[in-house]
Amino acid sequence: MQVYNFEGALTREQEDEFYMKEALKLAEQAFKEDEIPIGAVIVAQNRIIGKGYNLTERLNDVTAHAEMQAFTAAANFLGGKYLKDCTLYVTVEPCVMCAGASYWTQLSRIVYGTIDEKRGYSTVAANILHPKTIIIGGVLEGECARLMKSFFVSKR
Ligand SMILES: [Zn+2]
Repeated sequence: MQVYNFEGALTREQEDEFYMKEALKLAEQAFKEDEIPIGAVIVAQNRIIGKGYNLTERLNDVTAHAEMQAFTAAANFLGGKYLKDCTLYVTVEPCVMCAGASYWTQLSRIVYGTIDEKRGYSTVAANILHPKTIIIGGVLEGECARLMKSFFVSKR
């Protein structure tokens, strides 16, 4: 597992963009496989400990969202179910299901790219995130949104 040591060379914002680019690579992979292009990585102590991209078509499973794959991979890597002190990077705002799953993981941060106006977790009134989870949106928003748009245009 690769360790990224920026040694303070990058600001928090630049670091977030770096990992979002990794999530974007996975979203592009999903696009190539004709899946809705959403990618996710989970980072702990400068290491990517879990990755995932949307696999709902391939697995015939509506719950096979990028975040769900990444949670499972990270928990397997850590050998424990909680993801305290971990950050989830995901190209699109998590849905209610994934935000709910993130509650159970006790994730410390969620960083997402573009909003999901229709199915994003923030469309529901109640705050379903864990009270300790910090959420940051809009990181590489343009690139994340562009990928989604071109996917749905290609489907028309
Ligand atoms: Zn989801």
